[in-house]
Amino acid sequence: MTSWDAIQRQVRERAAERCEYCRMHESLQGATFHIEHVVPRSHGGNSRPENLAWACPRCNLCKSDRVEVPDPESGKLVPLFNPRVDGWGDHFRWEDYRVVPLTAIGRATAAALDLNHPRRIRIRQAEETFDLFPPDDP
Ligand SMILES: [Zn+2]
Repeated sequence: MTSWDAIQRQVRERAAERCEYCRMHESLQGATFHIEHVVPRSHGGNSRPENLAWACPRCNLCKSDRVEVPDPESGKLVPLFNPRVDGWGDHFRWEDYRVVPLTAIGRATAAALDLNHPRRIRIRQAEETFDLFPPDDP
């Protein structure tokens, strides 16, 4: 039986201490990042590492218990980016300090999680000073 502390450590290390949605590094943040259920418990998601992600508080709060959100281009519901099955670079790329979505999932997730909020841009600029931006590919 693996303890919750051990699971948290495993998820954090697997994510290289970065939010698995916005890719922000934890080291410059005042808040400890969260264990996030990719498929929320309210949708039947479990608490095993294969359903858990490391997420900054803002991404976690913006995501809430959603698994799909509207694509701002088509208005159709599409799945949120799933860091356990989707490759970040398949759905997003960097342009300067901005996240540029490449797919419907990328567009919907970038909008729902507000990935280009002005504070996030400023944090990426600060991360660059510490060689933490741009992040290595996950
Ligand atoms: Zn984040």
